[in-house]
Amino acid sequence: MTQTTGRLIDGNALSKQLRGDVARRAAALKARGITPGLAVILVGDNPASQVYVRNKVKACEDSGLHSVLEKYEAAMTEAQLLARIEALNNEPAIHGILVQLPLPAHIDAHKVIESISPAKDVDGFHVASAGALMVGQPGFWPCTPYGCMKMLESIHYDLKGKHAVVIGRSNIVGKPMALMLLQQNATVTICHSGTKDLKAMTLQADVIVAAVGKRNVLTADMVKPGAVVIDVGMNRNEEGKLCGDVDFEGVKQVAGWITPVPGGVGPMTITMLLVNTLEAAERAAG
Ligand code: NAP
Repeated sequence: MTQTTGRLIDGNALSKQLRGDVARRAAALKARGITPGLAVILVGDNPASQVYVRNKVKACEDSGLHSVLEKYEAAMTEAQLLARIEALNNEPAIHGILVQLPLPAHIDAHKVIESISPAKDVDGFHVASAGALMVGQPGFWPCTPYGCMKMLESIHYDLKGKHAVVIGRSNIVGKPMALMLLQQNATVTICHSGTKDLKAMTLQADVIVAAVGKRNVLTADMVKPGAVVIDVGMNRNEEGKLCGDVDFEGVKQVAGWITPVPGGVGPMTITMLLVNTLEAAERAAG
């Protein structure tokens, strides 16, 4: 096997560049009297969710976007949450609405997401957003796969005719990722827990996106030399350190390009939330 050393696609550096662009566009909107605004709703006290929402709100502030964090007790009823979203749908200062998942079990997350106006669906989880992506119409793309596409764009990777293998088929990562790659004319294979021979699939891939949530799902022997490897996974190792789905040390010896964890897809996800919020404000401003 040819040994190469994968070059890093640095999510922090790319985020910094894209957030600078967001800040400039936000300042231009502000000069017209419009401050892009994001409402973040957190129900309950899930510790991981608290960290995520704090990071999202801070990222907004750092880029000159207005953000409102609304925290509610886990006992909040579904009707109360739907009423709050309806009010935000009609609030002109708010251009994006994000409901942090997971929600408490007594609240139907699907119903809640569908209650967000598609014009403010900056997470891109609404069925209208998913449908727009499916048929190639303008709409909000889910932030994580959108960030992965930006990472490929940053290395000027031409997907046309390339074989992309996506591992994972969730509605928020795997499926939209596959559609975005398809839209760029890649030939796409989607793998999941029922895939019989994952290695046989990944060995054919020019691009691999791992979005599973299990450590070492992708090891060096499963990667074609020179392939681009994007690691979406967020897991903890034995020492409690954040790591991805990819055996980074091994795979980077074979891959042409690779994203690290941390410092890869994670910061890009928040960055694309800022981009979507800004775009929502720009669209609202005409
Ligand atoms: P998910 O809803 O749990 O989906 C995981 C997918 O992996 C499923 O489609 C599942 O298949 C598949 N899978 C499970 N075991 C497999 C195996 N052994 N081989 C092949 N496929 C397998 O997770 P998700 O929400 O898409 O997230 C995936 C990972 O990305 C998680 O670690 C999550 O924390 C992380 N994530 C990171 C970011 C970020 O900003 N960096 C954002 C979102 C998610 P089935 O459909 O057959 O069950």
